[in-house]
Amino acid sequence: MRTTHLKFAMMLAALFTIAACSKKDDTATTTTTSTTATITALACGSASFSSSATMNSAYIATATIAYSGGNAVAYAAGTAISSTGVTGLTATLQAGTLLSGTGNLSYSVQGTPTTSGTASFAISFGGQSCTLALTVNAAGGVTLPSVYSKIYGATSITTDGTWVTIKSTGLPDHKSVYYATTNPLYEAFSGTTYGGNTFSKNPNSIAAQTYTFKIPLNPVAASTHASTPLGPMGVSLNGVPFYNQYAGPSQPLTGEIVSFDQGWAHPDPGSHYHYHVEPKFLTAAKGSNALMGFLLDGFPVYGPIENGATATGLDAYNGHTGVTADYPGGIYHYHITAAAPYINGNGFWGTPGTVTY
Ligand SMILES: [Zn+2]
Ligand SMILES: [Zn+2]
Repeated sequence: MRTTHLKFAMMLAALFTIAACSKKDDTATTTTTSTTATITALACGSASFSSSATMNSAYIATATIAYSGGNAVAYAAGTAISSTGVTGLTATLQAGTLLSGTGNLSYSVQGTPTTSGTASFAISFGGQSCTLALTVNAAGGVTLPSVYSKIYGATSITTDGTWVTIKSTGLPDHKSVYYATTNPLYEAFSGTTYGGNTFSKNPNSIAAQTYTFKIPLNPVAASTHASTPLGPMGVSLNGVPFYNQYAGPSQPLTGEIVSFDQGWAHPDPGSHYHYHVEPKFLTAAKGSNALMGFLLDGFPVYGPIENGATATGLDAYNGHTGVTADYPGGIYHYHITAAAPYINGNGFWGTPGTVTY
């Protein structure tokens, strides 16, 4: 009997102890969750990464982002934030405790970047937000020259050190009577078009394509100048392809010019919208002396104006060598002309790459 009483008393004491502990824990938990981690500034612009990223290579690194105005509260790990621009990566906040004042947040960045360029992450923490940017290098340590970023209509631009691969849908970013009437870029058109001709609509319409232009990263003059093909012979800044001065094999463009729309271009029966002549929207937007795109041989195409006047001294291919805004060291480049051959003449100055579509 005595032993039983003692056991009972001990159990009772133990129960009280557990109850007391539970109460204390509850109080502590309530205190923690009632205060949210907050900061007053987050510095994505000066963020650092523990290693550099390369396209098509698996990447795991830690990004360190400085904050200020921390309130000394603990925070849990975040959910994965997917990258935009260069896709294939995620950034995930690692759990930690804010310092009182300034400190650093750590994000685990991982995945396989699909292209070179900039991977952006929309970071939001403690009442502040900013964009974390990671530079993804091209394979082989070759960085894509910045001039190619002017091809703003491309869906991707990459380089392997030998070729620049430019993908685009070929959809114009300007109004056309050849868009479906339901498209926001549809605009009626009639009257006078390119060369003073009276516009006459052809039966074709615009549709998205899957162009892949592969052009030399370091173009060089060819000993034999290959003819330009019918179909795409280059790509313009908005991703619309350049065509040569022919409507068909050795057929002049004359009969087709009447079907050039308000952008001085038209679609073919396969719904490929294309520029045979000056891309009016691009020269208006960028300037008549600006870079307009590249031909398949990798040499750049410029508008008709140079140093305030119509470009002079052009060869049979509509080009010449000289300094341009994008190539201060000088380069062979084409100029668009008002008369045939408009964009390019009797062949490529360099050795052309390829285009698939
Ligand atoms: Zn055409
Ligand atoms: Zn020039």
